[in-house]
Amino acid sequence: SVYLDVNSSAPIDERVLEFMIEIYKDGYGNADSRTHNYGDNARKIVENARRQVAELLNVESGEIFFTSGATESNNIAIQGMKAYAKKNKRNHIITTTIEHKAILETIKEMEKEGFEVDFVAPGEDGSVSAEEIIGLVRKETLLVSVMHVNNETGIIQPVKEIGKELSETDVFFHVDATQSAGKLVEELQELDYDMLSLSAHKLNGPQGVGALVLRKQNYTLPPIKGIMYGGQQEHGIRPGTIPVALVAGLGEACKIAAVEYIGNNGRCAELKKILMNCLEESGLEYKINGDPEKCIHNTINVVISGVSAEALMLATKEYCSISNGSACNTKSYEPSYVLKAMKVPIDEIESSIRISWGPNIDSRKVEKQFKKTLEVAKGLVF
Ligand code: PMP
Repeated sequence: SVYLDVNSSAPIDERVLEFMIEIYKDGYGNADSRTHNYGDNARKIVENARRQVAELLNVESGEIFFTSGATESNNIAIQGMKAYAKKNKRNHIITTTIEHKAILETIKEMEKEGFEVDFVAPGEDGSVSAEEIIGLVRKETLLVSVMHVNNETGIIQPVKEIGKELSETDVFFHVDATQSAGKLVEELQELDYDMLSLSAHKLNGPQGVGALVLRKQNYTLPPIKGIMYGGQQEHGIRPGTIPVALVAGLGEACKIAAVEYIGNNGRCAELKKILMNCLEESGLEYKINGDPEKCIHNTINVVISGVSAEALMLATKEYCSISNGSACNTKSYEPSYVLKAMKVPIDEIESSIRISWGPNIDSRKVEKQFKKTLEVAKGLVF
């Protein structure tokens, strides 16, 4: 079956894998060992990877902190501000109702601890309003956290406008760029932000590694404290032995993305046209969730009217691997909170599927399998 679920995890690039295997074989050593060549060698590999991540984002190497992934990066970025918040009596946070759980659950926990939170809802187009967010800023506002691209709908959020406005203030701005890193490369290079999260496996790197980017303003990093105690790795922001091969895989994936993203984006956009055509020609009644004009090139979230998404996915497993939203929520068969926030009616949510793809997929094969899937859908209309 063709894999159309890269927003939950993308396949690792063969070149990244080869590179990592060499490092697993020969690159062992602790990057913080200072007494022998094994340590020196591992450290060189890690620092090379740090430079590659920094180059993709157009930031300095010293602004990259390796973590286990975007969940951890998000937790450190947000919880890591507690000490500063307390000291400076700034307890107000602004975020959106469509963030990933790694943001929402973290911030809800802090709300219980006394932080005041504004959760901003999106419009029916799937996008939050920059004006609304900026309008909520007050003197106690510590942090604004907004994702760049929503993982369920692919809708690009107005982080550029928000970042620009906030850069004139002392409010910290965090961007969850998990779904845009390596894709919306120029947008990220030009973005104003203080903190940014990404995960390697969403840009064809390995699972279990990511980065938190902390931008220096006037030569000082945001006042973040690590959320675990341990060694001084990553300046204490993320203690623990650095997984050299994983970090190298992230670096290599960033290096490849920086060179290939334009071609990749183009191929993904081509496939979107093909998939949209299949929908159009199927004769099925369908509706795209969110404004297609604001959607990233590799995602479609579509309501197939009168068809149960769950039944469709199960019936067409052998053709296409798709999902009905975030893999992080599929244990609880609850309707998507993202689509709910967009005021999509419940019956439409239950008929919504998310299709997401990468640049190296065989588009003819996808077209064929997607057509078969839509044929099955016709039989499921009630
Ligand atoms: N943020 C967003 C927007 C995501 O899509 C994901 C992964 N679904 C995460 C954070 C969490 O990434 P990870 O599971 O790699 O920690």
